[in-house]
Amino acid sequence: MIKSKKSGQLIVISAPSGAGKDTVVKELMKRDGNNLWVSVSATSRAPREGEKEGVDYYYLSKEEFEKRIEEGFFLEYTNYAGNYYGTPKKYIKEKLDKGIDVILIIEIEGASNIKKLVPEAIFIFIMPPSLKELVRRLKARGTETNEKIIKRFHATYKEVNEVTKYNYVVVNDKLDEAVDKVESILKAEKCRVDRIEEVYLDTKEEEIHEILMNDDFDNDGLGEKI
Ligand code: 5GP
Repeated sequence: MIKSKKSGQLIVISAPSGAGKDTVVKELMKRDGNNLWVSVSATSRAPREGEKEGVDYYYLSKEEFEKRIEEGFFLEYTNYAGNYYGTPKKYIKEKLDKGIDVILIIEIEGASNIKKLVPEAIFIFIMPPSLKELVRRLKARGTETNEKIIKRFHATYKEVNEVTKYNYVVVNDKLDEAVDKVESILKAEKCRVDRIEEVYLDTKEEEIHEILMNDDFDNDGLGEKI
């Protein structure tokens, strides 16, 4: 009856740091990893303890990053907290064409640039339950100095006000519930009528009569009444 677009969807997820967006996406991948692909960004910031090249980021020097910008390597890039961050173009179209949904975990300026390039992308903002909880999580993470936490906290004030530019907001209070919500959003998006390519009628009237008159099928005698 309905032929829907086979292509994957581009999903942009932003959140203040400490809101738990990476954990939400990791959990989501555990549930539906076959149909999702998370883009790995490049950055000029130094790796944090435990981070791995090609898994968390591709780590480039400032000069290498600038060279890649000139070469048109990035779909979007930005300078955030003194470092470059960018989404490599490579693989994104390939994955979408194969019907795989692509997730970009990027900050708000990058999201706004993607909106100009791909207006039909799905924009999800993950919110921490409170600013107090956000600071607690950042401190518990133990990867940032107090000074950096304060910087990130100020950035959060700005970021939270941008939420209305997104299509969805998910408060990450309880992880499982937040993941359920993101999963539901992605499922609902697949049902949007603008993803329909063709509507067709797959049964002719004669066939309906045939089905109704078929004895094997006729449990309630409906066929005889027609
Ligand atoms: P972090 O240094 O905490 O890993 O990342 C800082 C911010 O940069 C986060 O909000 C993260 O989502 C964002 N970010 C990571 N990769 C990209 C990217 O490729 N493009 C943009 N615009 N932001 C990114």
